[in-house]
Amino acid sequence: MNIKTLTDKINLFNQDKCPTCGTSFSTKKFENLRNQLNTLLEEKQKLDNDLKAKLKEITDNNAGVMEYISKISAATQKIR
Ligand SMILES: [Zn+2]
Repeated sequence: MNIKTLTDKINLFNQDKCPTCGTSFSTKKFENLRNQLNTLLEEKQKLDNDLKAKLKEITDNNAGVMEYISKISAATQKIR
C-alpha cells in the first residue's frame, strides 16, 4: 500500500459510515483498523523521508564525483 492509498483509506474510515454501503465505521473494529492504518502511514512517511534523504545524499555525492571527473578531464586536456 502506498501513501496515497493509505491516506485515501484513512480519510474513508474517518467518516461515520461507508459512503457506498452505509456500514457504520464507529465501531471498535474500525477504530482498531484506523489506528493500524495511521501507524502504517507514519512508518511509510518516515521510510519515505529516509529514502529521500538518502537519495539527496547520493545525488550530492554524484555531483561531487562529476565535478571531480570534469576537473581531471580538463587537466588531462591541458597535458595534451
Ligand atoms: Zn462499504
